[in-house]
Amino acid sequence: AEELVEGIHNQNISLLSKAITLIESTLSSDQEIAQEVIEKCLPQSGNSIRIGITGVPGVGKSSFIDTFGSYLGNQGKRVAVLAIDPSSERSKGSILGDKTRMEQLTVNQNAFIRPSPSAGSLGGVAQKTRESIILCEAAGFDVIIVETVGVGQSETAVHSMVDFFLLLMLSGAGDELQGIKRGIMEMCDSIFINKADGDNINNATRAQAEYKNALHLFPPSPSGWTATSGTCSAHEGTGIDKVWETVSEYEQFTKANQYFNQRRQEQEVMRFYQHLEEEIKSR
Ligand code: GDP
Repeated sequence: AEELVEGIHNQNISLLSKAITLIESTLSSDQEIAQEVIEKCLPQSGNSIRIGITGVPGVGKSSFIDTFGSYLGNQGKRVAVLAIDPSSERSKGSILGDKTRMEQLTVNQNAFIRPSPSAGSLGGVAQKTRESIILCEAAGFDVIIVETVGVGQSETAVHSMVDFFLLLMLSGAGDELQGIKRGIMEMCDSIFINKADGDNINNATRAQAEYKNALHLFPPSPSGWTATSGTCSAHEGTGIDKVWETVSEYEQFTKANQYFNQRRQEQEVMRFYQHLEEEIKSR
């Protein structure tokens, strides 16, 4: 455990990976070491901005994270990408499992991409991601991105472990809400319409205006922040800076009104109870 903790503090990526593998292991001997590592990493954790990203399959989440993560990496920020996909038994394999989906980011020196843990209960998978976030922060990552599939319950889990929740949408895909439940829109801090490029720019701008109106109808969030909207293109890189600007504004806003720290504390309490719950279940 000592060696792992020291490696993590020294930003040694292979030791970080090794520690995350222990977190994901179901062996109780591995879990014991993993919990010791987490405890020792806790004091160095917390210094990142945690961003959750969701949207229906095909909206462009991996392409977006590839472009967005590279944009941040090129500014010298260290970016870790984690994923939650409790349904990862699907034939495509787990999200992020196929590294070619994030070609640019994979080769960025400032990035660390971790495929989602293999299938398990949502609670168990989410807990492992919470713990992995702590290790990534102790390893000095500035931005932690948590991707989720956008089809089921996992949004709520991701929302419960991040500071900022981004919903990616498409324009003109028929159904106004594209199977995204209203509840997910209510949870998000910003909606960006992706694929705003080529012939699709006007449609995307129109869709953004509609979502902007819809967002104003939702009850105010406990953070006091009013969800924003925008358009972007993961392919062309447009609007990506705007997303980061929004995240930074949100961070400033919620740090000023204390919501940021209050929520982090609540999440830490939740992580602790989830840990106890998983431990009891595994007995
Ligand atoms: P995911 O399932 O949400 O992760 O979506 P992917 O990132 O795999 O993208 C789904 C498809 O949409 C792929 O064929 C991408 O090339 C395409 N795509 C993603 N982002 C954009 C974009 O900004 N513009 C356009 N035109 N296509 C995109």
